[in-house]
Amino acid sequence: MREKIVAANWKMNKDLTEGLQLVSDLVESLKGKKIACEVIIAPPFIHLSGAAERLKETDIVLAAQNIAKEENGAFTGEVSAQMIASTGAKCVIIGHSERRAYYGENGAVLHEKLLRAISEGLRPIFCVGEQLNEREAGKHFDVVSNQLTEAFNAIGADKIAQMIIAYEPVWAIGTGKTASPEIAEEMHAHIRSFLKERYGESVAKKMPILYGGSCNGSNAVSLFSQPNIDGGLIGGASLAVEKFMPIIEAWDQVHK
Ligand code: PEP
Repeated sequence: MREKIVAANWKMNKDLTEGLQLVSDLVESLKGKKIACEVIIAPPFIHLSGAAERLKETDIVLAAQNIAKEENGAFTGEVSAQMIASTGAKCVIIGHSERRAYYGENGAVLHEKLLRAISEGLRPIFCVGEQLNEREAGKHFDVVSNQLTEAFNAIGADKIAQMIIAYEPVWAIGTGKTASPEIAEEMHAHIRSFLKERYGESVAKKMPILYGGSCNGSNAVSLFSQPNIDGGLIGGASLAVEKFMPIIEAWDQVHK
């Protein structure tokens, strides 16, 4: 049985008070509930230590949304993997399409970030996904294979096995245009066979592959029911507990 995961990517939303309130609301909503998946939240950096405090004695896992590729030193404005780990965060999102598009993060940069995260014991949630024009040109499988190839580079199977992958078609992020379960499943199966070919069957079988892109309480059950979809990376719908909880609870209705 692979891990089932619902992960929240708050992006650049919520001031400190609002963010910590959202963490507390989530903790309260999950209290005493038996849920069928792991829950990860990735707030902005400023919330990490306060969130870690509120998440003590819960099973909710804390993640950062980004890390510096450098270890430490004169890199004004950057936050290192070691700093993130020191807050109590256990995971980090790497390769989100917004980082690729707006901050020029290419395969080589993402490779360094993956190595840095792994060396500090942070579990990467590595994002891949094609643009609309790439899908329309029929290049989506190649685009995603190339993203994986470039960023994973020479990282060994033992380290790849510690990661989480998120497939997030860029055309579905924040647009309300969710990929159909069939389209998402087709890409998840492609990613799993890529992993099998490069890193062997056990890495491929074990890897949680999350779907991201306008996932919400209405479409989560049909997406999560697909054989190769192991959960979701959720942006907009993770910013309010009443929208996020139905996605977590979707797993109660999935039988596979
Ligand atoms: C994301 O950016 O990771 C994401 C999936 O966003 P949304 O759910 O808002 O499409």
